[in-house]
Amino acid sequence: MGLTNNTNPSIIRNDILEQTQLLGFTLTGICSAEPPESFNMYQNWLSNNFHGSMDYMENSVPLRKNPDSILPDARSAIVVTLNYYQNNIHTKGMPRIAKYALGRDYHKVIKSKLKKLSKNLQEKYPEATFRPCVDSAPILEREYAKRAGIGWYGKNTCLINSQRGSWFFIGILLTNLEIETDKTAIGGCGTCKKCIEACPTGAIVNNNGTWQVNAAKCISYLTIEHKGEISGNLKPLIGSWTVGCDVCQHVCPFNNIRENQPLRSALTTEPDFLNKRSWPSLQEIMQLSYEEWDTLTQGSPVRRVGFEGLKRNAKINLDNERR
Ligand code: SF4
Ligand code: SF4
Repeated sequence: MGLTNNTNPSIIRNDILEQTQLLGFTLTGICSAEPPESFNMYQNWLSNNFHGSMDYMENSVPLRKNPDSILPDARSAIVVTLNYYQNNIHTKGMPRIAKYALGRDYHKVIKSKLKKLSKNLQEKYPEATFRPCVDSAPILEREYAKRAGIGWYGKNTCLINSQRGSWFFIGILLTNLEIETDKTAIGGCGTCKKCIEACPTGAIVNNNGTWQVNAAKCISYLTIEHKGEISGNLKPLIGSWTVGCDVCQHVCPFNNIRENQPLRSALTTEPDFLNKRSWPSLQEIMQLSYEEWDTLTQGSPVRRVGFEGLKRNAKINLDNERR
């Protein structure tokens, strides 16, 4: 498609950076929307059955191979991040919820900001096309974030920004606009193995020289995505985690605030994330009616766990407290 109006890649870039800042995104990077180079790595992860029962990941393979299948003629990926860090102190008898799930559902928060961004850009570039992608869209978002200079892959497979750590969500706006790009991020864990040693279930594994998370053993997967019974040997290892798990990010030195790294683990400024919910105790969760669960989880990422799943997890936590 021929784009005619004000399509200087450098001017478009400046427009975007200005707008993403106004929308409250933490970081913005831009890269080409060429097919992902890590696609083979993704297939390898699937072939090891590290995706557990997340069949949708297998079903979406053809779509993940090329962003063109999500947005025809996609030329650029505008990659944004939103910091979600906040402290959460866990007390006995209460559910333990990973930081990312403490506030409003991030899909909704980021998608609404990306929609505003695409609406504003559309007004300026009427011939352009856009498609927001947040987590659930079939795109290997971490690769595009790396390509856009946002961060590099840690051994825990999180995307790590050397200045900010890893407590952030990633959103992508695909477009057919050609935009001046950033340089691919460079960095690495060096000899550190803290996350591997700290992972309660030993889910971080080296597979032919590549660090991968075996989701079938990961507490985040088990407590959120896995439906039905959790195998007996994994239950004690889940400990007090009710929804998700923060351990491999919590121990990561790149999330340690230092005098010369003040942005690491900086408190989120996003009101929708800061607005934490009050959760009932584990005992009360066990007694919830469906209607009560429905009201309690509206607009929260905890809803994904499901009614039965939340009760199952609360029971495991209570059993573990009694051990
Ligand atoms: S989220 Fe928890 S269980 Fe999963 S890899 Fe990290 S430390 Fe291990
Ligand atoms: S804890 Fe260490 S090995 Fe793990 S991601 Fe962070 S820097 Fe890398």
